[in-house]
Amino acid sequence: MADASEHPECSEDKEFTSEPEEETKSSPEEEEEEVDMDVLRNLFSRTLGLGSADKVLDELSLEGVARYIKSDKCKNIICMVGAGISTSAGIPDFRSPGTGLYANLKKYNLPYPEAIFQIDYFKKHPEPFFALAKELYPGQFKPTVCHYFMKLLKDKGLLKRCYTQNIDTLERVAGLEGDDLIEAHGTFYSSHCVSYSCHKEYNLDWMKDKILSDRIPSCDECSSLVKPDIVFFGENLPARFFTSMKMDFPSCDLLIIMGTSLQVQPFAGLVGRVSKSCPRLLINMEKAGQADPLLGLLGFGSGMDFDSDKAYRDVAHISTCDDGCLALADLLGWKEDLDALVKQGKNWCDSPGGKTKDDEGGETADKPSTASAKQQEEESR
Ligand SMILES: [Zn+2]
Repeated sequence: MADASEHPECSEDKEFTSEPEEETKSSPEEEEEEVDMDVLRNLFSRTLGLGSADKVLDELSLEGVARYIKSDKCKNIICMVGAGISTSAGIPDFRSPGTGLYANLKKYNLPYPEAIFQIDYFKKHPEPFFALAKELYPGQFKPTVCHYFMKLLKDKGLLKRCYTQNIDTLERVAGLEGDDLIEAHGTFYSSHCVSYSCHKEYNLDWMKDKILSDRIPSCDECSSLVKPDIVFFGENLPARFFTSMKMDFPSCDLLIIMGTSLQVQPFAGLVGRVSKSCPRLLINMEKAGQADPLLGLLGFGSGMDFDSDKAYRDVAHISTCDDGCLALADLLGWKEDLDALVKQGKNWCDSPGGKTKDDEGGETADKPSTASAKQQEEESR
């Protein structure tokens, strides 16, 4: 068994803060300040009538968005996605208290439920996290229609990047590759030894095997704890999140936001980083990201504006993410392409060798999901 307490806190802390800093000079706090500054800039330029906020869509509707995508003006699409795109794959929101999942953790005597995702707590008591990971481990990784729609955008040469809050790796299973993706809250796709001096990387199959067999993952080299590369509370977001957003958002032609209530910062603040002319399509079960209604009335606020007299670029399509993507694909004349991708993906997932793309484990690496994992997944719903 790995005992995280064997390792001096200082070196571990150094590891978690030093790595992201290699690529970005700004701290997350500075980045957030910068986001706030953008909000102020937008606020002043709009209320004072500075700058141009061209109306790009001929109609604030899914049809209007589809016509824009088909025009030659829309070349760079950014998708921002959250837990809502994976719910139809049977994956509950991993972090949300109140899903009933925390109730099963009583035996671990957590000081408070969220401690399970707190990095300091995890290093001392990794058991509850891995128990929850096992409980939530999908019987099989099966992307949704929405995931394949993003793959279709990539195939059409329109996807600039997908910013995801999800850690379930389904974007990768659907065929998006590392360069297409910013996994803002990290991913289960890879894991690392928590020892600063070792930091050995492990793949998904290795971690899956440990999780499903109730073993606390410890490093083959140094027997320290091994942690999936998901971002715990108390850890920085990946450096790529900050470096890429600066490059990507100013040149974005269309922002498609799916399955997120836009409440977690700094992710939610990304909607304010596109140009003032850039249309923003929300596909979600409810409207999200809107400015405070009172501030909105006064013409202030830089949130989403779907309904006011001043609305000029934001479209809300209220539906499941899958239905919204199907409707959009239909309007674009891409229905057959999407169906083909979904079918191809299903066949691949159902085949005995079905496994995550560019997995390092070789042909036979993926074991069929165990009955117990599936059963546990059912029970947890
Ligand atoms: Zn190690």
